[in-house]
This record gives sequence, C-alpha cells and structure tokens, in this order.
Amino acid sequence: MLFDPRPKEKREDIFDREKEIDEIESAIRDYPITLILGIRRVGKSSLLKAVLNEMEGGIYIDVRKLYFESGGWITNVHLAKALEEAINSLKEPFKRILISSLKSIEGISVSGVKVRFTHRVSLSSLLERLNEQGEVILAFDEAQYLKFYGKSGRKEFLAMVAYAYDNLPNVSFVFTGSEVGLLHDFVGVSDYDSPIYGRVYREVTIEPFSRETSISFLRAGFEEAGVEVKEEEIKEAVDVLGGIPGWLVEFGYHYVKLGSFEEAMRMVLKRAEELVKGELEELKKRSPRYVLVLKAISLGFNRWKSIKEFVEARSGRIPNSRLASILENLQNMSWIRPVFEDNEKRYKILDPVVERIIKE
Ligand code: ADP
Ligand code: MG
Repeated sequence: MLFDPRPKEKREDIFDREKEIDEIESAIRDYPITLILGIRRVGKSSLLKAVLNEMEGGIYIDVRKLYFESGGWITNVHLAKALEEAINSLKEPFKRILISSLKSIEGISVSGVKVRFTHRVSLSSLLERLNEQGEVILAFDEAQYLKFYGKSGRKEFLAMVAYAYDNLPNVSFVFTGSEVGLLHDFVGVSDYDSPIYGRVYREVTIEPFSRETSISFLRAGFEEAGVEVKEEEIKEAVDVLGGIPGWLVEFGYHYVKLGSFEEAMRMVLKRAEELVKGELEELKKRSPRYVLVLKAISLGFNRWKSIKEFVEARSGRIPNSRLASILENLQNMSWIRPVFEDNEKRYKILDPVVERIIKE
C-alpha cells in the first residue's frame, strides 16, 4: 500500500525509487561503509529496509528509538538488546545458521532459534563471528544519535567500526542520517581525530520527489486505493506539501479514510504540527534562539542582518559568532540551507511544511 504511513519494507511498496534502491544495494555490496542521507520523511528508512529485505544478512537498528528508550544515554546494555532483537527477527535460514554460530561467545546464550545477549557481550567477538558467516550488514538508522553511545560516545563506537573495516571483510556498515551535517561530523572520515579517518565510503543522497513525481505518486496511490480524486486537488496538495513523500503519504492516507480534501489537509497539517513541535522542543532545549532564528527565516527575514535584528528585538543582543554557530548547526541538522539570490546569501527552510508550521 503506497499510502501506508509506516516505513515501507518491500521494494514493491515503494514508489519510483528504483535507481536509489539499486544505488544503495550496490554501495552496500562494494563498500565497507555506506551513508544514506536525506531530510526527515524523505524515505531513507523505507529504502534501507527494502534493500535489507532483499539481502540475507541485514541487521537493522533504529538508533533514534534506542536513544529515546535509553533516556538519552545509550549503553552497551541497550545496544546488546537492540542487536538481540534484530538478530532474532532475521529471516530463515540465515537466522538459524547465524544464531547457532554464536553459541560459544561470552555474554551470549542460545536456546533453539533465539539468542539472548547480556551486557557482557563482547561486540568485537560478535563481529568476528558475523564475519565468518558470509556477508553481514549492520545498518544503523539515524546513526548520528550514536554520539550518545558509551562513555566516550563516537570514539568507542567508531573504533569498533574501524576494527571491522580493517579486519573483517564480510562485515559492512550502513549509516543513515536526517541531520546530514551531524552524521558527517559523527562519522568524520575526513576528520583526523576520527577512528575511521581516511576510510573509503560511499554516500547516497535521497532527494525529495520532483513536482511531477509527487503528482504521479498521489495519482498512483489513489488509484491503488480505488478512490477518485480531482486533478486540481492533487496539484493543490503538492503545492502545499512539496515533494517529501512522508507528507504526501499522510495526505493520501487521510483522504482515502475521510473522502475530503479539506479534512485530509487539516489532518496532515495537524500531524505535521505535532511532529515539528516535538522537534522544535528538542531544539529549544539547546537554546530558544534556534527557534527564533527559524521563525525569522520562515517569515522572510532570511539574510544575516535581518535575522540578527529579528532575534535581537526578541531576546537581546546576540554576538555574531553565536549567530554564526546557530546558523551552522541548523544547517548541519538539515533545517535550513543557504541560497544565493542577487549575489546575496539567504537562508531557506528545507521542508515547506515545516516552514508553514514555524511561520504560524
Ligand atoms: P525517513 O526515514 O527518511 O524519515 P521514511 O522511510 O520513514 O523516511 O518515510 C516517511 C514516510 O513516507 C513513510 O510513511 C513511508 O512509508 C513513506 N514513503 C517514503 N518514501 C516513499 C516512497 N518512495 N513510496 C511510498 N512511500 C514512501
Ligand atoms: Mg527514518
């Protein structure tokens, strides 16, 4: 079902991403490390899951979920539990073969076709064993949250990745990230300080749908659901929601259920508001100024000088260095991007739905 609002898990449920799916698949086969980048709700998890579903040894871990469940600090216990869950939900016959190979590792107990990890599990022994089973992929969705792992965060985790990279040719890694700059910072392949400095990796960026594709997507979804919808309504929906599949899916889902354009639009914007407000709350915890800067940009105060004036009128003086770092962080988190108009740098909010909500 195209309009199913959960992440898709199979290629046939995914609209128009053949090229991206093939790209991810060949990246995983050919490179020890693959990054999948793209803004929230563009389809990264869906594409990753569809690819893993077609490969045998794909182990999927949702790091964002891990982060929230762990209360903000991911320990070995949390990671072990997540790996246990992922391995127990692998497909047969690979699962059985893999699990029986894990028997003699410290901190792992096997009963029948189920495996149980304790916090004492040695991740490097686990990786070594995985390597002996043929191609195994460890996929970490929203991997930038791994900076909250262990005592030294990223270093500890990446040291393990570096070890696998250097010694375990059958183990490959996939990292996805909505906060593109943060994922780059986390992985740090061009950062001398990073344990995986200089390693070879491949990057696949998932772009929003074009206007044409967005329209075809909605048409295809309505046709599949057997619901007739006026062409103008489809176009208007795309005008408001842009090309981010996540919003288009929500719209289609509600339209099919409620049978009314206005109601469906109201629902999708309400849901978007809930999601975006939650994300803004997270930002606000870092500093309320992040939200003020976004507000300024959404209202069209999008050049350096006007952003500064807008923020200062509401929260007092802000040093240039501070504003620069806020803009840089917002860019790293994929909220905004710089554009050049009339030889002048302006900032733009990436997602039109987010822009609309912040503006209110
Ligand atoms: P991300 O991981 O990038 O945040 P998801 O994979 O969770 O995005 O996708 C967001 C929503 O959009 C989900 O409901 C998913 O089913 C839907 N979706 C994304 N891309 C497509 C696509 N190409 N075809 C159909 N549905 C899609
Ligand atoms: Mg995702």
